[in-house]
Amino acid sequence: MTRCIYVNGRYAPYAEAAIHAEDRGFQFGDGVYEVIEVRGGRLVDPTRHLDRLSGSLTALMIAAPMSRGCLMRVFAEVIARNRVSSGILYLQVTRGAAARDFALPNQDHPATVVCLARAMDFAKVDARARVGIAVKTMADNRWGRCDLKTVMLLPAVLAKQAAKAAGAQDAWFVDRDGFVTEGASNNAWIVTKAGELVTRPLGHDILPGVTRATVMDVARELQLKVIERPFTVADALGASEAFVTSATTIVMPVVQIDGQPVGEGKPGAVAARLRAAFHAVAEMGGV
Ligand code: PLP
Repeated sequence: MTRCIYVNGRYAPYAEAAIHAEDRGFQFGDGVYEVIEVRGGRLVDPTRHLDRLSGSLTALMIAAPMSRGCLMRVFAEVIARNRVSSGILYLQVTRGAAARDFALPNQDHPATVVCLARAMDFAKVDARARVGIAVKTMADNRWGRCDLKTVMLLPAVLAKQAAKAAGAQDAWFVDRDGFVTEGASNNAWIVTKAGELVTRPLGHDILPGVTRATVMDVARELQLKVIERPFTVADALGASEAFVTSATTIVMPVVQIDGQPVGEGKPGAVAARLRAAFHAVAEMGGV
């Protein structure tokens, strides 16, 4: 089967799909994106993802390229044409192609829209969740609007590479005061010895993770207490569990930080319960 990708109104085979060489996403990182889990051919938490997309576009003054209804039709088409049952849907919207100039083109300038769906073997992610991941901490060197899901991902790319080089699976960013901001592509959590879930409050320094929000709903269902406050690396090492949340990993236990074990150095029961209950609580979108 030839996989196809949606680019600006066309569903084209990969080899034929192209964007303009002067696209502002390519030249300036002037664009936003979303990654949505596809499960049983349906989208997980589409409303929260589309709400966040609207927020990112508005903050960057990029006009919405189409209505939510039209976007959902594109999603459905891309998923169906690529026969994705379990996987991810990726959407990227940039400010479009224009002769290279820092100043913004007119408001009515057409955006570039790219959407693809890819199958993923979630059994592998489940297997990893049974083992957990090691993270490496590093100074958060990103810009001041990490709450916007922009395609300017170079700090995350380099952080993940440094983590990999150190034998870890992911990176945790730490702010100037020693508090963990978030993972390179996920939100960071700990479970205190008292059984409380702690995660950094929303602000300009972290992405408002859709999985983070839904995990809060799951915690409420399970009658677990969630406290939104910053925590340090030492807090995490002294916690009984740590984990990260994202659309591709859902709830992934963190068992080691900079080579030191978290809790018993094994995935914990709270992370396992949240992971197991997640999809029963999340919105499953009609595609
Ligand atoms: N934080 C960062 C920096 C991310 O890149 C991501 C996902 O890509 C997340 C958090 C988790 O967000 P979500 O749960 O919406 O996937």
